[in-house]
Amino acid sequence: MSAPTEERYTFQAEVVQLLDLMIHSLYSNKEIFLREVISNASDAIDRFRFAKLTEAELADESDESLEIRVAYDKDARTITISDNGIGMSRQEVMDNIGTIAKSGTREFFQALTGDQRKDATLIGQFGVGFYSSFIVADRVTLTTRRAGLAASDGVRWESDGRGDYSLEPVERAERGTEIVLHLREEEDDFLNSHRLRTIIQKYSDHISLPILMAQERTAAGGDDEPGEDAVVNRASALWARPKSEISEADYNEFYKHVAHDFADPLTHLHSKMEGTYEYTLLLFVPANAPFDLWMPEARHGVKLHVQRVFIMDDTGQLMPNYLRFVRGVIDSADLPLNVSREILQSSRVVDSIRSSAVKKVLRLLKDLAEKEPDKYATFWKEFGDVLKEGVAEDYSNRDDIAKLLRFTTTKSAADTADTSLEDYVGRMKEGQEKIYYLLAPSPAAAKSSPHLEIFRKKGIEVILLGEAIDNWLITSLPDFEGKRLQSVAQGVSDLGAMEDEEEKEASEKAGTELVGLVERLKTALGDKVTDVRTTNRLTTSPACIVADEPDIEMNLARRMRGSGLPSQPVLEINPEHALVRRLDRETDEQRLSDWAHVLYSQSVLTLGARIDEPAAFVERLNDLLMTLAEEKAE
Ligand code: ADP
Ligand code: MG
Repeated sequence: MSAPTEERYTFQAEVVQLLDLMIHSLYSNKEIFLREVISNASDAIDRFRFAKLTEAELADESDESLEIRVAYDKDARTITISDNGIGMSRQEVMDNIGTIAKSGTREFFQALTGDQRKDATLIGQFGVGFYSSFIVADRVTLTTRRAGLAASDGVRWESDGRGDYSLEPVERAERGTEIVLHLREEEDDFLNSHRLRTIIQKYSDHISLPILMAQERTAAGGDDEPGEDAVVNRASALWARPKSEISEADYNEFYKHVAHDFADPLTHLHSKMEGTYEYTLLLFVPANAPFDLWMPEARHGVKLHVQRVFIMDDTGQLMPNYLRFVRGVIDSADLPLNVSREILQSSRVVDSIRSSAVKKVLRLLKDLAEKEPDKYATFWKEFGDVLKEGVAEDYSNRDDIAKLLRFTTTKSAADTADTSLEDYVGRMKEGQEKIYYLLAPSPAAAKSSPHLEIFRKKGIEVILLGEAIDNWLITSLPDFEGKRLQSVAQGVSDLGAMEDEEEKEASEKAGTELVGLVERLKTALGDKVTDVRTTNRLTTSPACIVADEPDIEMNLARRMRGSGLPSQPVLEINPEHALVRRLDRETDEQRLSDWAHVLYSQSVLTLGARIDEPAAFVERLNDLLMTLAEEKAE
């Protein structure tokens, strides 16, 4: 008979890089390895409990004494952590330990700077996980067997955390996973009962499963038999405890466990509801956006529990998409333990929990904005663009979400999004009826748009929108507190009400004077534009393009066409501008036509849009410059 074969595999290149980074950057916080390994054990038991409810093959598996054990051996210099959770098959070991399957891995590695301090923060955002065991161990042995498989399907994984690992089939009577950490030379401190207990209590007290450790052998006992196992942590679900007994540190550690995050959360809410339905919410807003926030497969972060038993991760039933960054636990007393996704989708209990959870989160954000504006600014920077989706997605809460929005405006300090719609309305000028915004393909294009000229001159604030999501946002937000949102690049400039008599007369006069030029430009431009007209919206630019269609259509058209150009562009010219005055005196129709096209192309460019024939534009412009140069020389 041949002996069971051991095979060697090399780590994915990223794993090697990650390990190296971790060992060097988390050196000052080594003890977190225990939190990570216990957190995985707890997840594995949660998953076992749920699998037993749903997978018929697991019906015979016992779900009694689900627990995590921590032991150490001074002579062998090892720490052993074991659980009777779901365990892993050989394939699962290969997929989960040895590769990094997490979405966002590529982004993570691209974000690395080489600066150890910065990278240490990044690694925290990415989540440290299993590999953190190599901070204290120079060899890790993991033995596991998936629940439901035969005893002969056990597998042993071992690695020194450098370049490769070995896999070997083993006999394993019990399901679950055992991890043996062979400590590095200098890590003997951890071979100490008191030390390990302290770490467990510090980081894992909130774990709802018992974590057992052998009792310290007393000197009097004197023998070499290990003492009886005792529960080290409180082993009760944190969210089920009275708030008064939970410290800020408890909440933070619990957050790190559920969110797989390394940093403290920004804020949290904890409330027990007892109305038609009974449920508890413990929800957190992270301080940093996860790497997969914008990926289609981005994980939702709320874990559904029924009477303290983990049931499943949310896939959109508990939190809407625009709140996908919320992490935490919802525990219902009314759902059946064997609830399936299908039942969740059509459950009245879930509907009711969801709508109250959403309201509570929005309320939490509102309070944060009022009481801790600095934290809210962080929140907005990380998650603002996600929250914007809510304006379109959640009609029933639209007004509350709108109040949470923050914008950069022409009055903002630098480029910060520091203005709420309420701030804007509070600063509106006398006689101003609308909320003005400028939608451009990028924030930079928005800031330098000629459409802002008249508003700058009159001191009227304009909201600058330049993010991809802003198109959707503005389409779904026609008004705020009875004030219409109006694009400054759309329709005839409607600042009429705010002009004084002199200005009105001047612009009417200019209009009549330039009737001829307007007609000639129209002929020259043909169907490039739907109209040409004079405007009072410009002060320093000769011309600009505005959209003739209503806002919504313009936004849709832009999105569809992708060129950034409205589907019904109107060329507006500035009667005060020297170039326009000069054109009015132009007698050569060919030259007038060249000028018309140059003005048009310039205006398209300042819109932040693309011009159709850049080469033709450059050629025309150069021809005109040449003629001007020749005229000068004559
Ligand atoms: P994360 O916990 O964030 O997924 P980890 O690096 O901590 O990342 O763990 C990687 C994966 O390894 C886990 O997602 C899980 O699939 C598997 N794993 C780790 N520890 C255990 C365990 N004790 N039992 C079963 N699976 C485990
Ligand atoms: Mg983990």
